[in-house]
Amino acid sequence: MLIFRKVSDICPWLDDQMKRDHSVGFIPTMGALHAGHVSLIQASKTANNNHGGGVTICSIFINPTQFNDPKDLEKYPRTFDADCKLLTEASCDVLFYPAVSEIYPPNLKEIKVDLEGLDQILEGEHRPGHFKGVVQVVHRLLDIIKPHYLYMGQKDFQQFTIIRHMIKNFNMLTQLVVCPIAREPHGLAMSSRNVRLSDTGRMLAGMIYSILQKGLALRNVKNPQCVCDFCFESLTVEPFKVEYVLIVDTRHLKTISNWSDSGEKVICIAVWLEGVRLIDNIVFQ
Ligand code: AMP
Repeated sequence: MLIFRKVSDICPWLDDQMKRDHSVGFIPTMGALHAGHVSLIQASKTANNNHGGGVTICSIFINPTQFNDPKDLEKYPRTFDADCKLLTEASCDVLFYPAVSEIYPPNLKEIKVDLEGLDQILEGEHRPGHFKGVVQVVHRLLDIIKPHYLYMGQKDFQQFTIIRHMIKNFNMLTQLVVCPIAREPHGLAMSSRNVRLSDTGRMLAGMIYSILQKGLALRNVKNPQCVCDFCFESLTVEPFKVEYVLIVDTRHLKTISNWSDSGEKVICIAVWLEGVRLIDNIVFQ
């Protein structure tokens, strides 16, 4: 696997790939890689590498501007050697591992995009400034890599919804591919932050997904608000602390008040456990 640390090194290499008509699949991450990240790499490899002439690029960059809590940034797991091993095993072609100064040079223009309220709900309500940082970093990475395909996880539902909006807003040529949530055997959505949970916490955290499933199973007898209340109350037990449970439509992220509201919906949850903030969601019709 090739490792690039500088924009001035990866750009000529990318130019060469373009000249050869190679399609480029890109997976931006913050490292501490797990099977969820690997599933995105595999999706890219299947679509790009396997049909000849294509490459898969993963980036590892812990983006300081998207952390509203400095302690969270400080505690974010950093496992570079293990990440490289995992990427090599997954046959990733390139790792882009830039320093902060490469991503945010002094002359960089601030990206302004009207998110049309997509950032005002769910994570946006509880993590002020978070999506401004996400838009900034993904825009910069797409500007450097210019991938044909961008792979993101459904796990961060609001994140990919906002990036899809940004790509459309700037008429970027990149196509977004959203991959399903990889879960641990007992249902917990895989996350880099899971390593900060105790063994007991990790087992208990499987409840989050099962409660969402149970809540949705009540759709025939309860309205959307009651389903959210059921999930909220079911997890209002030690050691959990629920931050929100909301059902929104998947396009505009507006709260659903009736099941008859048309279109695809998603139930989203954020829960604190042992000082770790966990998010999960289930998409349904
Ligand atoms: P992160 O390193 O947490 O910023 O995540 C990088 C990418 O991996 C994002 O597009 C995430 O949505 C995706 N991702 C994280 N966890 C999972 C998971 N459990 N399943 C699938 N994709 C995931």
